[in-house]
Amino acid sequence: MSRIAYVNGQYLLHSEAAVHIEDRGYQFADGVYEVFALHRGQMVGEKGHMERLTHSLNELRIDWPISRRALAIIIREVARRNRVKDGLVYLQITRGVARRDHPFPKDCESSLVVTARQLPPLDKEALRQGVGVITIPDIRWKRHDIKSVSLLPNILGKQQAREAGAYEAWMVSEDGMVTEGTSTNAWIVTKSGQLVTHNVSHAILNGITRLSVLEAATGAGLSFEERPFSVAEAMEAKEAFVTSSTSHVKAVTSIDGESVGNGHVGELTGQLLDLYVDFIEAKGGPANTSIWN
Ligand code: PMP
Repeated sequence: MSRIAYVNGQYLLHSEAAVHIEDRGYQFADGVYEVFALHRGQMVGEKGHMERLTHSLNELRIDWPISRRALAIIIREVARRNRVKDGLVYLQITRGVARRDHPFPKDCESSLVVTARQLPPLDKEALRQGVGVITIPDIRWKRHDIKSVSLLPNILGKQQAREAGAYEAWMVSEDGMVTEGTSTNAWIVTKSGQLVTHNVSHAILNGITRLSVLEAATGAGLSFEERPFSVAEAMEAKEAFVTSSTSHVKAVTSIDGESVGNGHVGELTGQLLDLYVDFIEAKGGPANTSIWN
């Protein structure tokens, strides 16, 4: 079956889908994106992704190319036409096509591209195989809450991780605090057993998976702290893991080559993976998305 992409009003063969060379996304990274996970045919956290997309567009003053309702229909249609039951839908909105010039162009219509890709179904056993992370300086701009397509520091960081044989790079602010991974949120379970992840601020992208895990933890009566943690604290932690729409809840067993805890997947991490899967299957995604309203 051929893959299908949606580009500005048309469903096209993926191999033939294209945008104009003067699309501002291409020239300036002047655009935003979202990645929606599909799990057993269901969209995960749709409301949260839509709220976050609205936030990103508003902060960059990019117009909605179509209504939010129409977009929801297109996302489903792209998943359907590509027969994706487990995988992801990628959505990108840029400010549009205009003669290259820095200020916002007048009378420019924003561009919309939606693609979908099948991925192996969520596999708890694979997620319980611990992975390594490295730490790198966070050299990004100061608005990580905006899901911009401008991802150079993230791709350089991820490449550095891969070359070091690690799964992810945790980015560290100038004051020594771990902000997040290049495409994941970062979590630890401290020496004293406290679950910790960075608080919501401009320093992180508030992950939809992060919100689901927090709601699932609350539902199970588990406590957590939303605050920055240092590399030193992470090195001493009992457990660590990362979350994202495509990494789900993935155990981290080493940081910069040093074992986390006893070097095995932590008990709470395993429990949170189970809680997360039950949560998205029962609830579909986080209800508490008021942060973006
Ligand atoms: N932080 C960054 C920098 C990311 O790119 C992502 C992935 N979109 C996340 C965190 C996790 O977000 P989510 O759980 O919504 O996939």
